[in-house]
Formats: sequence, structure tokens, C-alpha cells
Amino acid sequence: MLSFDVDGPTLWLDDRATGRWSDARGFSIGAYGPWRGTPRILDMLQDRGLPATFFVPGKTIEQWPALVKDVVASGHEIGHHGWMHETFFDHPLREQRAIIERSQEFLERTAGVRAVGFRSPSGDIAADTPALLADLGFSYSSSMRGDDRPYSWGVAGSAGDLIEIPAHWELDDYQQFVYNESPPEPRGLDRIAGTAATFDNWRREFDGYHRWGLCYVLMLHPQVIGKPGRVRALERLLDHIGRHDDVWFATGSEIAEWWRRA
Ligand SMILES: [Zn+2]
Repeated sequence: MLSFDVDGPTLWLDDRATGRWSDARGFSIGAYGPWRGTPRILDMLQDRGLPATFFVPGKTIEQWPALVKDVVASGHEIGHHGWMHETFFDHPLREQRAIIERSQEFLERTAGVRAVGFRSPSGDIAADTPALLADLGFSYSSSMRGDDRPYSWGVAGSAGDLIEIPAHWELDDYQQFVYNESPPEPRGLDRIAGTAATFDNWRREFDGYHRWGLCYVLMLHPQVIGKPGRVRALERLLDHIGRHDDVWFATGSEIAEWWRRA
């Protein structure tokens, strides 16, 4: 599963309390994803005929509606990713519901689709989030870390049980490559990982997943992976994966449906 979290500036800014949506530098760091990274990635996927899932916060959809339409027109899946990249564990149920419904309505108005997949911003959910997702008709979540196969949450919903498709920090570009001075990311500002070493890690992880027939989920951010050199390295990783004739590239919703039937 190739997944791209098109967070845009929502990772860096907070338009609720501080008005920092107007912070030009923070905005531009995040905006690189929708402006440059995502179109570059869309071209790369189109050249290879590969499907992907793009998790997009509502605020980013509002700012870049044409891009979201492009993603849908290219045949990719849009997943839910909050409105302003909210952490869900510190929101009561009614606020979680309001965030989800606001973004769904905005996505539907913009691109004519509703998300059936949910990736919790920062991977933080509340205990009552899975049942809420099932209640709202979501097919799957891709928020947890605890397995390398999909699994069922065991909650009944209108679309059937909610499926989890776990992702992992070691297959996430953010932990490897993100850098910002203010606010400092990472705290202490002590690294941007080497591109070759990171992709060597990802290739070795793929080989392990392939050996056991597992669900390999790349969790990438266009503002991070969409840089020219890193996209080239991603192409090489996809070359490596593509040399195996028993690999299935699928969207999150396809994986969830397959797992539900299995
Ligand atoms: Zn995110």
C-alpha cells in the first residue's frame, strides 16, 4: 500500500488559537507538499500505473481543491485525515464526529467523493474512535502500529466491521527526513537521515515483508518525500518491489475489502 499524507501546512500551523496560518515560513514548508511534491508523485504513479491512497486534512482540501480533484481524477483514493490534523485522543466523541463530518462534507462538495478510510493525524485515536468510524460507515482505519497484517477492530458498523491497516514509523518518511528550525523538528535539530541509508532500510523491510507475505504500508508525506532526489529514490524502491511478480499494489479500501472477504 502506497499512502501519502498530504498534510500541507496543517502540520506546522494552528488556525484556531494563534492565527499562525498566516505564518509565511511555516505555511510554505507545508505548502511544498501540495504545490510541488504531490503533482510530482502523481506523475510518477501515472508513469507506473500504480494506485495510491492520499490522506488529506479538510483544511488542505479547502486550500488546494484543484489538486484534490486531480488525485481523484487520476484514479487514486482519498482518505480522511482530520480537518486541521487534530489529535483525536484529546477530543470528546461529539467533537471527533464534528471534525469527521465537516471534512467529509467538504471533500464531497469539492471532489464528489466521500472517504471510506481514516488515518488518525499523528496516529492518536481515542478509545471510542473505532466505533465512531464504524458508525459513520468507514471501511477501514490506518492509524495503528501493532501488526504487519490487517486486522479487524471487532466493532460492527453499517459497512461491516472496521478493518485496521497498520503502518509503522520505520516505513514513514517523516521520522527520517523532516527538519524545521522553529518549531524545532526534531527537537535538538540533530538529523536529516541519509537518503541511501533510509531507502536501504525500506528495501530490506520490503524483503522481509515479502518473505512472509505481509502488508507493506509506506506512509509518506509529499512535503517530505516529494523532493526531487527523494522521489528518484522512491522510484528505485518501487523498481525493486515491482521486480516481484507476486506483489499486489492496492489502495487502502481494496486491501480492507480483500481482508474482509478473506
Ligand atoms: Zn498527517
